[in-house]
Amino acid sequence: MSIELKILNNSGLKKILIVGVFHGDEPQGEYFINEYLKMQKNNIKNSFYFIPRLNENNLRTNKNGVDLNRNFPTKNWQKSKRDDYFGGDIPASEYETQFLVDLIEKNNFDAIITIHAPYKIINYDGPAQKLAEKISQILGYPVESDIGYPTPGSFGTYCGVERNIPTITIEIDENKAPHELLEGFIKLFDFLAIKY
Ligand SMILES: [Zn+2]
Repeated sequence: MSIELKILNNSGLKKILIVGVFHGDEPQGEYFINEYLKMQKNNIKNSFYFIPRLNENNLRTNKNGVDLNRNFPTKNWQKSKRDDYFGGDIPASEYETQFLVDLIEKNNFDAIITIHAPYKIINYDGPAQKLAEKISQILGYPVESDIGYPTPGSFGTYCGVERNIPTITIEIDENKAPHELLEGFIKLFDFLAIKY
């Protein structure tokens, strides 16, 4: 398998990673990212690292039945039962997890954003409260610093809590068609490209 990584303006001031489709049944992020890339913006100040689709499966888990957002090698990783939230037999057992760990080790990202559904909130980990508030203004979802349930081995814990990288988890409204949400994401990406 291969994971597509698209880099825009690699010599920008700040470096931002945006990851779509962590969970295969939340496919909207791939559409937002690809539509933005099609626009061929030429006034970008920061660097974008886009992964349109991390998980090629169509279910929450990847093809090995692992929830990628529970597979990161964090202090709180734990072996869990084989359900939709199964974190793997060992931490970072999955190719997708290893790909992101490697990318984050090699790059000093100034912000990391993932696109999920369906909770209609902006969740953040690490020093990202101000950025979360700005994204909340742009997309119209409230900021929630605590998603309300434990997430051992999550990407937010790995990047935000344990590495102090501002990390945002956007949870979109799954009841809206992706094209209805596109304008908000274009505004968000433009903000990150120029003003962040
Ligand atoms: Zn998700």
